[in-house]
Amino acid sequence: PARPLSGKVALVTGASSGIGEATAVALAGAGAAVAIGARRRDRLDALTAKLTDGGASVLTLDLDVTDEQACADAVRRTREELGGLDVLVNNAGVMLLGTIRGADTEEWRRMMHTNVLGLMYMTHAAIEGMVEQGSGDVVNVSSVAGRVARKGAGVYNASKWAVNAFSESLRQEVTAKGVRIGLVEPGAVTTELNTHITHPGAKAASEKMHASMRVLAADDIARAVLYMVSQPPHVAINEILVRPTDQE
Ligand code: NDP
Repeated sequence: PARPLSGKVALVTGASSGIGEATAVALAGAGAAVAIGARRRDRLDALTAKLTDGGASVLTLDLDVTDEQACADAVRRTREELGGLDVLVNNAGVMLLGTIRGADTEEWRRMMHTNVLGLMYMTHAAIEGMVEQGSGDVVNVSSVAGRVARKGAGVYNASKWAVNAFSESLRQEVTAKGVRIGLVEPGAVTTELNTHITHPGAKAASEKMHASMRVLAADDIARAVLYMVSQPPHVAINEILVRPTDQE
C-alpha cells in the first residue's frame, strides 16, 4: 500500500536532527501520526510545522531521554494525545569519540546514560502496552560500532554493544507476543553527530573518514526503518546493517 502506516502512531526520540528527523518525515509520509521528542525545542517546532503542512498529526515532546520520568511521560502523552503507540524508534544518541586513556569520564556517563539507559527507559515505558495490544515495533538505532570495535571508539562501542544485547534479549522475551524488536546499524551518515566530539584527534579522524567517501544521508537510514516497520505482522526484520558502499 502507498501509505502502509496509516492509522499507526510512532514515537521517534532524537527527532530534532539527523536520522531521527529523517525517520519522523519518512514515517509521517507513510501515513503514521508521529510524536517527536528531543531537547532542542526550536528544532522540533520547525519539524512540527513541516510535518503538519504535509498533513500529518504531530505531537511535539520536550524529551531528555536521560530523565526516566520524562520518558514515561512521553509514552503516556503519545498514547493519550495520538491514540496509541505502535512504533517506538529509539534513535537519540551521542558519539563522543576518543581514546580510553586520558578520557574525560563525564563523556562516558553521557554516552552510557543517553545511548543505553535512555533507550532502556523509553523501551520499558512503551513495551507493556505493546504486549497488551499484541503488536508493535521497537526499532533501536545502533551502529556499525555495535558490531566492530575500534581503537578510539571504546565507550561508544560499548554503548552500542549494550544496545544490541538488550535488543536481542528483549526480542526473545516479547516476539511470541507479537511485538517486534529491530536493530538498525548505520555506517557513516552525514548528520550533526561528529560535531559534538571534543577530542581533537578523534574529531579530525572522523571528519577525514567522512570526507574520504560517499557517506550516507539520513534518509538512507530512514528508509531502512520504514522497511522494517512496514512488514506484515508475521515478518520480523531483526537487524539491518547499512554501510556506505565506500566504507571498508
Ligand atoms: P545527530 O547529532 O544529528 O542527532 C542526534 C539526536 O539525538 C538529536 O536529535 C539530539 O537531540 C538527540 N539527543 C541527544 N541526546 C539526547 C537526550 N539526552 N535526550 C533526547 N534526545 C537526545 O546525530 P545522528 O542523527 O547521526 O544520530 C542518531 C543516532 O544514530 C544516534 O544513536 C547515533 O549513535 C546513531 N548513528 C549515527 C551514525 C552516523 O554516522 N551519523 C552512524 C551510526 C549510528 P537534542 O540535542 O535536541 O536533544
